[in-house]
Amino acid sequence: MNDEWNDEELKASVQAYVEMQRDERLGQPFIKKHYYKRLAEVFGRSEKAYEYRMQNISYVLALMGRSWVTGLKPARNIDGAVAAQIEKFLWEAQSQKAIPVVAFKIAVRDELKQKTPAIPNGNAKPKSRRVTVTQFRCNAPVTAWVLQQAEGTCECCEKAAPFKNVDGLPHLELHYMRQLADGGQDVISNAVALCPNCHREIHHGASAHALVAWLYDNVGRLIPE
Ligand SMILES: [Zn+2]
Ligand SMILES: [Zn+2]
Repeated sequence: MNDEWNDEELKASVQAYVEMQRDERLGQPFIKKHYYKRLAEVFGRSEKAYEYRMQNISYVLALMGRSWVTGLKPARNIDGAVAAQIEKFLWEAQSQKAIPVVAFKIAVRDELKQKTPAIPNGNAKPKSRRVTVTQFRCNAPVTAWVLQQAEGTCECCEKAAPFKNVDGLPHLELHYMRQLADGGQDVISNAVALCPNCHREIHHGASAHALVAWLYDNVGRLIPE
């Protein structure tokens, strides 16, 4: 079989991943191997190849700042174009639209590998394009309540907000434990106030899962969804 993954196979892999993620959230036991076996039967690759692909999907999700399945540690050995396709299928699987970010992040990652990079010319007139995205409307009282009870201290690292915003208030950011894009509720039992560092880390960090577990253990009002 050809080594290239066609769209049909990538889409089926993303679909299997999304199903595993759903099972994990619902606390339903699932066997990853069964998914790989089913894909192997349809597309003729080894089960191991699908396992690795699933880890690639975790990597794409991590780049997107989304949560990924426990036990499918992100594997970054993936081509930018394939990653961009996976990103597209992930949003399609949820019937949502978002600004693509993955191809750019991988391009930066690959540039960073150059030992002696040439000084780039850049672009005096960056190109733009119009895109349609899915936006969730947040409830202002929920955000305000969570920020207020944090009293200027990050609920994750428990340090004071690093700076004041233009309103003269400590700058903390609202984060939904189960993201709204993943079907999370806009309620105080699903939201925390984080400093910008912790907020970035919980979306993109290698230890994101540990931070999530810590928050559920230490912030009394949180209820896993
Ligand atoms: Zn923090
Ligand atoms: Zn967030």
